[in-house]
Amino acid sequence: MATVAGVAVEGGHWIGGERVSSPATFEDVSPIDGQVIAEIARGGAEEADAAVRAAEAAFPAWSRTSREERARLLHAVADGVEKRLEQLAIVETTDNGALLRSHLRGVMPRVAHNFRFFADRLLELGHEDFDTRGHRNHVSWDPAGVCALITPWNAPLMLATWKIAPALAAGNTVVLKPAEWTPLTASLLADITAEAGLPAGVFNVVQGYGEEVGAALVAHPGVRRISFTGSVPTARHISAAAAAHLTPLSLELGGKSPLVVFADADLDLAVDLAVEQYDNAGQVCLAGTRLLVEESIAEEFTARFAARAGALTQGDPRDLATDIGPNIHPEHFARIDGFVRRALDAGATAVVGGGPNTDLGGLYYRPTLFTGVAADSEIVNEEVFGPVLTLQTFRTEEQAVEMANSTRFGLSATLVTGSEERAARVTERLVAGTVWVNCFFVRDLKAPFGGSRQSGVGREGGDWSFDFYCDLKNTVTAP
Ligand code: NAD
Repeated sequence: MATVAGVAVEGGHWIGGERVSSPATFEDVSPIDGQVIAEIARGGAEEADAAVRAAEAAFPAWSRTSREERARLLHAVADGVEKRLEQLAIVETTDNGALLRSHLRGVMPRVAHNFRFFADRLLELGHEDFDTRGHRNHVSWDPAGVCALITPWNAPLMLATWKIAPALAAGNTVVLKPAEWTPLTASLLADITAEAGLPAGVFNVVQGYGEEVGAALVAHPGVRRISFTGSVPTARHISAAAAAHLTPLSLELGGKSPLVVFADADLDLAVDLAVEQYDNAGQVCLAGTRLLVEESIAEEFTARFAARAGALTQGDPRDLATDIGPNIHPEHFARIDGFVRRALDAGATAVVGGGPNTDLGGLYYRPTLFTGVAADSEIVNEEVFGPVLTLQTFRTEEQAVEMANSTRFGLSATLVTGSEERAARVTERLVAGTVWVNCFFVRDLKAPFGGSRQSGVGREGGDWSFDFYCDLKNTVTAP
């Protein structure tokens, strides 16, 4: 048990409704100041197996629990999240360095909403009946079984609950493996589910490294669904493991999304939206990190952008006035810095930032914007996952579409234009799971969410989540 920002957090796994330790542990370090904040159990194959068995044991009763009762329990979990919202917010901020302001106002309310939304949706989930030569077809949604959920560190609890809520609502049981850099709020959620009265084994958490407990979990024959959010290289490992048992997969991966600004755009709005791409210190999968700006306005746009970016406050994410906090981990920080250095070496110009924030030290990286970047350069094509944007210019709409699509990813795209006709024309041709027109990051849980190309496989959200977490069954009855 550790005390993090005044909140007691268990460092063990949560298996079958009990805290379980492992012989080995690892240190959880805060990116704010490099302090060790907790000792966390380092699970392996044994813990993964125990968690899957606990989830298998809990499955028959939970899957037969009425929809109304499951929905009631998920609302009780949401109540618990709301009751402990401030604790969850400060613990998550201490663990991953994202802004306390965002956690209090947006992220943690969304966590509660994830449970409420899927609980309510479950009650609306219909079934389909139709006749074939007098025979009645009845299509029903059966829970699939044990779901292994693997999540990243950039928005730990929000991304986990976006999977946990529909999986549980559908009548499945869950084993969650949070990222090793951010294990804490998953552990708090386990306490909340117990307080809410969720039966033992319905929700389980295993802690540890991806290559150890994560790999054992996704390779487990008892797992009937794997939902993964994270990087493309890990997705390849998980897909290979899933292939052994033909376990159905949902993959939500990285991006290198375009933000396209046409000359007919409201320039203030365009600059606002572009600066927003630095949110969470650039560690947002959906971020529009490639600014594509029509040549005739590029100079003015760049000047205004530089002024706005220069006015951002960087510092301690617990301070409600801070706009940009630290990046997650020394390894990740070095990776970001490597991208920036290689871009500079390749001749790019940093019109904003261009290196670590030496005034603050630690893991604080200056928001950076590069111009003078080649279309085939690393900085234009690889996901940095830090506060680093590039700006390229285009002359025609045709060229804008071509540049927007010239990536192996396809997660999102943002268009800023004053013309509805243009927005419709361009949107139709973009390869992206989500397109935002004159806005960014507006996400309704009813909408399908996912990526095209190497940004993912499948869609979750709304009834698409139930599609994924259920085995659909068609029963044909003779007249
Ligand atoms: P990552 O792939 O390194 O790790 C993600 C999770 O996978 C962690 O829990 C890790 O422990 C686990 N893992 C690692 N190896 C594993 C293995 N062999 N078997 C099973 N599990 C394993 O990703 P990350 O660095 O934590 O996250 C950043 C990436 O996630 C970025 O590419 C980002 O774009 C992406 N992301 C995507 C979305 C989305 O919704 N599409 C959302 C957030 C982040």
